[in-house]
This record gives sequence, C-alpha cells and structure tokens, in this order.
Amino acid sequence: MNWKAELEKFFKEHEEEGVALLKELVSKNTVNPPGNEYLVADVLKKYFDELKIPYETFEKTPKRTNLIAKVGEGHPVLFVPCHADVVPVNPDWDHDPFTVKIENGTAYGRGVGDDKGPMVSAFLLAKFLKQHEGEFKGTFLFASVADEEVGSTDGLVWLTETGKIKADYAVVPDTGSGIYKLSYGEKGLLRFQYTFRGKAGHAAYPDHGINSIWPAVAFLNSVKESYTEKIGFLKEKDQPNFSPTTFTVSGLEAGSAYNIIPKECKVRMDIRYTPQRNLEEIKAWTDSLAKAACEQYPGTSFTVEMPDHMVAFEIDPEGKLCKAAMKATKDLTGKDAVLFGMNGTTVCKQLLAAGIPSLGYSQDDDGSAHQTGEHIKLSEIPLFGIALGLLFFDLAE
Ligand SMILES: [Zn+2]
Repeated sequence: MNWKAELEKFFKEHEEEGVALLKELVSKNTVNPPGNEYLVADVLKKYFDELKIPYETFEKTPKRTNLIAKVGEGHPVLFVPCHADVVPVNPDWDHDPFTVKIENGTAYGRGVGDDKGPMVSAFLLAKFLKQHEGEFKGTFLFASVADEEVGSTDGLVWLTETGKIKADYAVVPDTGSGIYKLSYGEKGLLRFQYTFRGKAGHAAYPDHGINSIWPAVAFLNSVKESYTEKIGFLKEKDQPNFSPTTFTVSGLEAGSAYNIIPKECKVRMDIRYTPQRNLEEIKAWTDSLAKAACEQYPGTSFTVEMPDHMVAFEIDPEGKLCKAAMKATKDLTGKDAVLFGMNGTTVCKQLLAAGIPSLGYSQDDDGSAHQTGEHIKLSEIPLFGIALGLLFFDLAE
C-alpha cells in the first residue's frame, strides 16, 4: 500500500469536512476555567458513533470530559492527545472569536491552532485509519483531553496517575511549531527561595545588628557574574538543541521599617535548566555561592526552600519515535526537520513520567496561540494529518 498517496487523496477529499469540523469545535466555548470540555466530547461522540469507532470517556470532575477513541489493534500503540480547552479571550477581537473567520486560506478564531486545528487533523486520520482497519499493524488512540491550559489536573495528570493511558508512544500536537520542528525534550523548571539571616537592630546603631541585605547582594552579584560566564557554569554543558540554562532573579524582599536593620532578606529565583543538568548540581552551585556570600559577612546564615520542581527531559533523538517523525516530514515535504527542546512545559512531562516516550509534533500556528487573532493556515490540517499518518505507519514497521 502506498500510504502517502492514499493519505494525500483522503485529506484532499475531506478538505471541506475538516473546515466544517474546525468551525463546529471552535463554536463550542471551552474557555478554561471553567472548561466544559464535554461540549467538544459531544461533537466527537456524534461522529465516532457514525463511523463506528469505539471510544471511552473519563471524567474526574463532571463536564471535564476526556475522550479516547481507538482504531486498529495491537502494538505499537500511538497515543495522540489534543486538548479541548482554550484560553480566555480579550475583548479586542475584530470578530466573534468562537465563530471561525476565513480569509485567504487562513482560519481565525480562539483555539483554531491551540488545539482544535490539530484535533481536526488527528480526527480525520482516525477516520482514514478506520477505512483501512485490518490493513496495518498497531493501534491509533485519538484523545480529546481536558484542562491542559490550567495544569491538566482534570486531564492528563489524572489520566496518567490513574493508569488510564496504555501506550507505547505519544505525539502531543500542541507545540504550534509545525512539522519542521520536533520538540523532543523540555527544560526543567526549578524555583528557589534563599533566605539570608542576620540580626535586627536600630538603624541608628548599625553595629548593633547584622544586616541581612549585604550577603543577599553579594549572592545576587555572584549569580549575575556566573550568568555572564565569568564562572562558566552556565554554558559549559548546554547543548545546541536547547537554549541555555537561565537563572532569573524574580523576587527580593527585606525590611519592615526605615529604622530597623533587616533581619531577613529573601531572594527568589526561577531557573530553567537543560536535560544535561540536574537539581543536585544546580543546588550545590547556588548553595556554594550563598555560603561564600555569608562568609563575607560574619554572623549571617542562609536557608533555602524549593517551592517548585519539574525535571528536564529529552527522549532519544536516535530512537524510533524521533526517527519516525523526521522521516514523515522528509517523505512528505522533502525537507529536513530539526530537533528542539522547549523552554516551557507541556503534557509530554506527564506522559514521560508514565513511561511513554513523547514528542511534540504539530501544526504551525505562526506563534499566535493564546493571542488575539489566533490563526492557522487551512493547509496545516492536511499537512499535519498526513505527516502524523506517515509517522504512525513508520512506527508500525
Ligand atoms: Zn495548547
């Protein structure tokens, strides 16, 4: 079977159906909060019933529906979660953001790219695969998931923690970066609060207290120096597919009155680190800077808290999933895709924690996700759908 030719023919024939489905999905207001993802699930159920594609629905919270539909049999199992919720709209849209506007082959509306456009591609692929069931190996799991925009606690966090996802691979069509950029990893997120301590006292008698601000300033200066490569911690291990590890000082707090020497000074930092680093290494380094800062100011000390931590990850760039995606893009377009690591975080983290290798591979939304005027070229629907199909067939080989 020449799957590429078959897929191209199918997506050409179903162009209008894709546009109609996109309009229907966008018309369902799934702004999160509150989400109401059942509105999208109801649309999908109607079509899956017609197509005799079996599906299951899961709700941790009423109306926050997750739907998983299945085509094919056996391994490999490819799980493709598209999220049904969207972000809120600003009042400055020039048309109703829940009514798709089409101009020069581009669709405008809330959710057209993030993530209802990719959902249309994945839906049409499920329909195509249903027509060919029995002619290929493996299982395609289409999913419409809830609550992605607000932490996924009603969506993939819950689905993975309760063991509802059984898959060999996942493709998360939610990067907005198109089929030429494969997100094969994500930076880690780490938040520290360093509290420097001295001794309170009357400001008129500086010798009677120990000012906690000075070790904090020394600490901040050494963090900044490291950042400008004087210490060299930051660049030595970072690798080209990721942007460098970043340290952002995002908070500073000390002092309660003009006439009191501050006993405590808090420094808050948001750190995004590449998979080549880890928590222990970064903490050992920032701790050493804090310790050196306190040594400059006898009588001071520090403690550290870590309110947030999500580990960095990357999947094997030479592994089956990355290779299948690279090959799909190349076979379809003749162009090479590049690997990149995301600065932010997606549900890939949850899937990976559940032991499922995951890749961000998607439509190109021109960076318009979450913005007024969110848009997607209609040509992205077949482009991504066909690429996803080729990727699936390649995994099964
Ligand atoms: Zn999204």
